[in-house]
Amino acid sequence: MKIVVDSSSFFSGFLPDANNEYFTTESVIEEIRGKRMKSEIEMRSTFLHIMEPNPDNILMVKNMAKKTGDIEQLSETDVEVIALASQISASILTNDLAIQNVCREMKIDYESYKSKKIKNEIIWKYKCGGCGKVYDKNYKECPHCGNNLKKFPVKIKVIR
Ligand SMILES: [Zn+2]
Repeated sequence: MKIVVDSSSFFSGFLPDANNEYFTTESVIEEIRGKRMKSEIEMRSTFLHIMEPNPDNILMVKNMAKKTGDIEQLSETDVEVIALASQISASILTNDLAIQNVCREMKIDYESYKSKKIKNEIIWKYKCGGCGKVYDKNYKECPHCGNNLKKFPVKIKVIR
């Protein structure tokens, strides 16, 4: 089975294995911070293909996300992940409700990834590309300097 993996799944502790054919985008890999997580994923790179979606597919996802009202909640990375799934007819592994919502509308199958032992809560914050200020919520533009904000995940580890 072809499965596209998004940032939220990796942040919840998902690691690719031989059970499926896993795909992700370069932008997802860039979002993964923390040396340990990065090296664990790199060790399993034989199970993970990195692919970029076509501009046509990206546009299609953006149009759908505007229609569903999820566009403000989606980062460029999220849009690329959905576009890739649509392009290669894969399903998505994601814990992001906005992504799931757009997938439902586009008839893309999705599953959420839940780690059994450790649950990582993901909080999304928004960082300004200009002045670097970090916000808890998304603004159309930075209230401080007017540049675009970029969504990034902050992981909080909750041990059960
Ligand atoms: Zn700013």
